[in-house]
Amino acid sequence: MKNLDLRNPVFKIKKAVYEEMILHCQETLPYEACGLLSGIQSNGTKLWKIKNESLNSNRFSMSKESIELTSKNANKIGEKISGIFHSHPSSPAYPSSHDIGNTPYPDLAYLIVSFYKGNVEVGCFQINDGLVIPIKLIVVDE
Ligand SMILES: [Zn+2]
Repeated sequence: MKNLDLRNPVFKIKKAVYEEMILHCQETLPYEACGLLSGIQSNGTKLWKIKNESLNSNRFSMSKESIELTSKNANKIGEKISGIFHSHPSSPAYPSSHDIGNTPYPDLAYLIVSFYKGNVEVGCFQINDGLVIPIKLIVVDE
């Protein structure tokens, strides 16, 4: 699942996927939603909704099996998993200390959809070994 070019930390997401991601997160409120994004390079051209296995309302966890299955399904259509997204129903669009400590995929873009204080904001990061690096998120038509 290596996809992110760290020399050029930009993640391009298709507008329809961006909107679908926000809508899914909105529909899951007040709970955290989560899922994966796939694409050809470091971009998101398809959204994969994944069940949040966490019983804690402000955490998320995806089973290893569902991640592997999604990765296989993405490969079938010529794509690779490129990003992970989840929502923050009531905290800012920045990784929580729990997020920072529990991210086993440093090569993926880490997107957070926040509804903090009623505003929708999407943050995009790379989290590598406790280090949070902002990634420029670009919404594209195609
Ligand atoms: Zn989080």
